[in-house]
Amino acid sequence: MKYNIVNLFVFTFVHMKKSDLDQSRLLSPTTLNNFLKEYALFDSLNILGTSVENRPIYSYSEGNGPKKVLMWSQMHGNESTTTKALVDFWLYLKTPEAKQLRETCTFLMIPQLNPDGSDAYTRVNANGVDLNRDAIDLSQPESRVLRDVYEQFKPDYCFNLHDQRTIFAAGDSPIPATVSFLAPAADPDRTITTARELAMKLIVIASNNLQASIAGAVGRYDDGFNINCVGDYFTAQSTPTVLFEAGHYPLDYKRVETRKHILSSLMAMSHAIASDSLETIETAPYFEIPENKNHLRDIELYNLKKSPDGMPVFGNNMLIQFKEMKNGDDIDFVPEIVTENKGLLGLQRVNAQEHKTLMNLCFDADDSEIKNLTKTISLLSLHQFV
Ligand SMILES: [Zn+2]
Repeated sequence: MKYNIVNLFVFTFVHMKKSDLDQSRLLSPTTLNNFLKEYALFDSLNILGTSVENRPIYSYSEGNGPKKVLMWSQMHGNESTTTKALVDFWLYLKTPEAKQLRETCTFLMIPQLNPDGSDAYTRVNANGVDLNRDAIDLSQPESRVLRDVYEQFKPDYCFNLHDQRTIFAAGDSPIPATVSFLAPAADPDRTITTARELAMKLIVIASNNLQASIAGAVGRYDDGFNINCVGDYFTAQSTPTVLFEAGHYPLDYKRVETRKHILSSLMAMSHAIASDSLETIETAPYFEIPENKNHLRDIELYNLKKSPDGMPVFGNNMLIQFKEMKNGDDIDFVPEIVTENKGLLGLQRVNAQEHKTLMNLCFDADDSEIKNLTKTISLLSLHQFV
């Protein structure tokens, strides 16, 4: 059974009608809570604890079967796509199609482990700590909430849900890694333990499923061991843990498409767990998933014939990377020039000669050339693509 875009069409169409979560990459707790209220889901939330700034950390659960799956997202606050997909998955679990899942599994989901970072659009929590490096120290209240849930719920599987930047490609290709996975190591030797093997099998299932919709755009993260990372720690405790990274889909800066592929992967993996189909899955295809490389940048301007002094232009090309900045209730994608472009490729290639007037205006300006150039790029690219 496949859970690709085609299968999801009816489901997503019905539910997207009310959705406003696609409006911005910024997903504050207030926006999420208002959305859940609209769907009459807010009253089903449980409060697990509070963040540094005293915001509630919520969870919800669905199903009452013996197999326990713990999922959490936005432990990095500026990574909202998987939270949106996790809410989609909750709605899916309430449908008749998910009856088998509800009867065989109990899902416990934490949609925003880092609500302060989600509000501020920061990776770190309000104390500036990366919660995904705090698995041993447990120095932060959010880390302790996750650990407490893990110890009380005793999950059979964990899904650790994140977003990755636009720079990541699936292997050496120019194709962005729309979804990447990792079965984290459990020790420095990267031994394929029983838990890790199960995580690999789940990833093989999701990756095969995604080939129907985004062939070649699935990546695999480096498996260097770091016990401070939550996924590595849980795998070391013999709990199969899958790392998800929601990435870039061409021109999809709001990650509306990517959200669907994360949902599709959550569905495919959950059905595999529920139906006991992991036994027959081989792990070899896991290692055939191309490793994530980081050679992509948002815009490549080519055919730049003029290179004023001091401009970081290399040859005839220039690369631009968008910096995501919170601005009120939304995120601005602010273009910044990449100062070293060796080996890098643009996700969007723009012929500068086709925008000669703008480019000349920019080069002849009295003001800081770089500042003007970025403004120009903004005109050229940002409003077309974002
Ligand atoms: Zn992350």
